[in-house]
Amino acid sequence: MRDPLNDSYIVFLKKSGISSFLQEKPRDFYTPCSKKINSLTLKIEDISNVDELELFIKQSNICDLKNHAKHTVIGDGNTQADIMLIGEAPGAEEDKIGKPFVGAAGQLLNKMLSAINLDRNKVYITNVIPWRPPNNRTPSNEEILQCLPFLQKHIELIKPKLIVLLGAIAAKSVLSTPLGISKLRGRWHEYKSLYLIESILCLATYHPAFLLRSPGFKKTAWEDLQQLQKKIENENL
Ligand code: URA
Repeated sequence: MRDPLNDSYIVFLKKSGISSFLQEKPRDFYTPCSKKINSLTLKIEDISNVDELELFIKQSNICDLKNHAKHTVIGDGNTQADIMLIGEAPGAEEDKIGKPFVGAAGQLLNKMLSAINLDRNKVYITNVIPWRPPNNRTPSNEEILQCLPFLQKHIELIKPKLIVLLGAIAAKSVLSTPLGISKLRGRWHEYKSLYLIESILCLATYHPAFLLRSPGFKKTAWEDLQQLQKKIENENL
């Protein structure tokens, strides 16, 4: 008998994996959420800056999470940054304020960044999902897939030199892998897209919210941060 969990995971991989672009012609991921902006139909592939992407996401009806959230949380920081951090989804504080990582996990993230002399204003921060899932539940694979075109476009627009994946959901969504965060963390992976000339190096580490719940893992997260710091120094970023 087929394992339905495995089947749904294969569907997830097929839909989100870079290899799925290696078809005769690329899937038109984006058409269903093309929206009229300034009376022009803007397709996601035509979006050329984060402001347009924000409008596009705010007008999209592709994911029901939007209907439960107060704010669409797009990103924060420097859109010219060399380093992009990707979390999971907004929590209660983020939903209230409309910015990513402003609650308790955000406070810890700020401390983690300053421990390696990285100013939060020097990086760009976003999430896989722009809307808070009710009761902070983990977003489903379906919700991740619905929002993945936004994240892929976001990465293309920021075009960072390095990406830091905060936690299991960010790692699974960006790297299209079934491996858990404990296997992925502390290593450099490559993010590839047909829309990017070069692949982008990604470092996965634990999510700050997980570290707040399980402080015993902070030592390992510190090792990941030191790897990031070393790479930033070596690459003169
Ligand atoms: N956790 C996240 O993954 N993102 C946020 O913006 C806040 C908490």
